[in-house]
Amino acid sequence: MPPPIDMLFRNNRNWAVRREELEPGYFRRLSAIQEPKYLWIGCSDSRVPANEIVGLDSGELFVHRNIANVVPHSDLNCISVIEYAINVLRVEHIIISGHYGCGGVRAALSCRSYGKIDHWLAYIKDVASQHRVELDAIETPEAKVDRLCELNVIHQVQNVARMPQVQNAWHRGQELQVHGWIYSLNDGLVRDLNVTITGPEALPDMLRLDVSSLNGVSPVVTPDPEAVAAAEAPPADSADPAAPEAGEAAEAQGQTTAEDRATVPLAPPSARDLAPETAEEREYAPVVSRDARSTAPETAEEREYVRVGSPTEEPGRAR
Ligand SMILES: [Zn+2]
Repeated sequence: MPPPIDMLFRNNRNWAVRREELEPGYFRRLSAIQEPKYLWIGCSDSRVPANEIVGLDSGELFVHRNIANVVPHSDLNCISVIEYAINVLRVEHIIISGHYGCGGVRAALSCRSYGKIDHWLAYIKDVASQHRVELDAIETPEAKVDRLCELNVIHQVQNVARMPQVQNAWHRGQELQVHGWIYSLNDGLVRDLNVTITGPEALPDMLRLDVSSLNGVSPVVTPDPEAVAAAEAPPADSADPAAPEAGEAAEAQGQTTAEDRATVPLAPPSARDLAPETAEEREYAPVVSRDARSTAPETAEEREYVRVGSPTEEPGRAR
């Protein structure tokens, strides 16, 4: 039977007293610093207490846990943890640690639907799908789960290495290693899966990012002489006087040198550029070229809405 919840406060007070007796001034020191060199990304499973199993004290391990230690490319929570760990705490090691017998991995291997969590398990199902032949060849269900636990860790290591925050750190020369480990609930031991990535060279070309712009260092661009000449030439067609050509737009922005004008392709496209040419484009034209006239209210209902205005424009409303 689990202890009543009040017991947790009692336990906490006893623990705090014991901790302070063992090491006087412990909490005062701890509150002043947080300089972990390790980020641990592990499973939420209650049997895998991160600090404890690797013998690190409070303040020595930055921890993120979720079901089955997944690092999706679009998980803002996980991305924020990784970015903070790299850019602020300057951790030197990111450890993705799975564990054998993981319930999340087991659920991902089954066909049963669990509701919303199916979306999360889909990341692991993707891994299983990529290694279907290998997994199908494993005879016992438990061994199959355990192998997928390993494969999941290996894929998450690659996901982390692909993140712009990680590649940016490598680009600026920051020491950072990404490790894949797995923990066994049966013997309490952590095993290294030997998939450590220490730099972008371990990734295939297409997964390496040009992160120079993230450092505020733009890649060097040599102006194309033809683009410069084209920008300096007067507009060949002035059928639409309301729509300035790119060169004129650049001049209006105070760009006077040939180098400045080389940037004119960035000027906004003219109305003529956006004019529909084919029947299909004309079909979409009302959507892409709305002007004040096309957004004016037409029906009585629309005019009423415009007259009333937004709630903040209501007379008498306190500001
Ligand atoms: Zn787990």
